[in-house]
Amino acid sequence: MKVQKVLSEEELSRLHVARLARFASGDVNDQNWKHLKRCHGSECPHQACSAACAFGERKELNRVVRQTRRLLDASAMPRHFVTIIDPTCFLKPGHLSDLSVNGMFQSLRRRLREAPDSWKSARIVGAVDIAYDRDADGREWWAPHLHLAIAVDADAKEVRRVLKPRRPAPPDLVGRKFRPVKVKRVTSLANAIAYSLKSTVDGREAIWDRRGNKDRRPFRVPEAAQLEHDLWMLGMRPRDRSFLGGMMVSKGGVVPRRRP
Ligand SMILES: [Zn+2]
Repeated sequence: MKVQKVLSEEELSRLHVARLARFASGDVNDQNWKHLKRCHGSECPHQACSAACAFGERKELNRVVRQTRRLLDASAMPRHFVTIIDPTCFLKPGHLSDLSVNGMFQSLRRRLREAPDSWKSARIVGAVDIAYDRDADGREWWAPHLHLAIAVDADAKEVRRVLKPRRPAPPDLVGRKFRPVKVKRVTSLANAIAYSLKSTVDGREAIWDRRGNKDRRPFRVPEAAQLEHDLWMLGMRPRDRSFLGGMMVSKGGVVPRRRP
């Protein structure tokens, strides 16, 4: 499918091995993670593994990518790739376990319920993605945000308006140019969906341009934060961070669901 951000088997193995090494050196009780030692290669031996299993998570989410792609493809509606950043969800290092993924989804569903009627036929797939941010003054925090691929009969302006978080952003955390909802046209649907469901944690360090606008460049996430993210994943099922709108997972796979 020529999909970016879908890790190869070798990359998944590296991720898995590094994660287990962090659990081991981080003194994490191995009762909680030793079952992950049996997951390797393209195989995960467990019926339903933890989200911290690189293989089990990918297997399940790749299935979601394939099936939702079929349903978004079948709709003739415009497709958007959307990033929603609500800084009121940001957390201090050490507090990632306080994150309420369901709370983020509930507030998104509330906004979708208040959307114009044309949104009732929208098809949405995405997930909570966790970034680790560092400011120029050295402050660091978790920046959970949403990536969504959306097929809906609406233009980018309407998408921004409908999906904008209701609570105002704290001004000290965001730059002047801060836009809580970024909307891009989808050129490759499979890429957009796969990116929406990616599970690695990206470090982003603040930089300012000459006009004082804030931008971010990648930096290496500290080991302690990596471990904190690993532990967060360990407590979740592979699909817990993923979101579907206008579609649902049934026994036979993902099927359409029209909002009442
Ligand atoms: Zn597994």
